[in-house]
Amino acid sequence: MNAAPADQIRLLDVQGLDVRLTQLAHRRETLPEHAEIRALEGEIAQQRALLVAARTEESDTAREQTKAEQDVDQVRRRAERDKQRLDSGMVTSPKDLESLQSEIASLARRQDDLETIVLEIMERQETAQARAKELASRLEELEASAAEAVSRRDAALAGIDAERETVAAERAEAARGVPADLLKLYEKLREQQGGVGAARLFQRRCEGCRLELNITELNEVRAAAPDAVVRCENCRRILVRTPDSGL
Ligand SMILES: [Zn+2]
Repeated sequence: MNAAPADQIRLLDVQGLDVRLTQLAHRRETLPEHAEIRALEGEIAQQRALLVAARTEESDTAREQTKAEQDVDQVRRRAERDKQRLDSGMVTSPKDLESLQSEIASLARRQDDLETIVLEIMERQETAQARAKELASRLEELEASAAEAVSRRDAALAGIDAERETVAAERAEAARGVPADLLKLYEKLREQQGGVGAARLFQRRCEGCRLELNITELNEVRAAAPDAVVRCENCRRILVRTPDSGL
């Protein structure tokens, strides 16, 4: 394959711009904000689940409390009725009086027990309320941090994308000056050789694989016509000669 020396140099420009595009794509993928946002989202999901549980506990205890208070009311009303009967003087038989007094005493004990239960439920409810409040405020903080990280990430992405557009335009411009067959070979090699298809021969060293050419290889390169497309014997990349090649 043949290509004018100036076109071969232009291929090095294309290669340089392609490296920059690869670096930009890598920077885009490895922005620290990506990991930060993922971690925050995980934490938010966890806190949300805890908040749902705390709110469920809150409403469950509210229901329990209503039920327990109704039980207390019922017992109190019954005890009041019993007392009214006792005070009315209408119950006269000693046996009935005794049974009425014993019921009043047992209702008083029952009311005590139920009131203890109400207090216990109220305590649980207060705990659940406090926990829900704390979780909600923690969640709010996390959501604010996530929103802030997202806007930081988006700004970084916009910067990278703008730079990528500029470099892509430069690359297209540089590639226009390279003969089609040389560009095709370059693309193929780039794919095979980890993104580098063309390398400068600099001070007798291939800048693609970093190996120094031996004397036989150097003599072959020296003997090649200026417009011959030379390849590195070691890595097979296109080797571009410049005044600094050390030939
Ligand atoms: Zn090489």
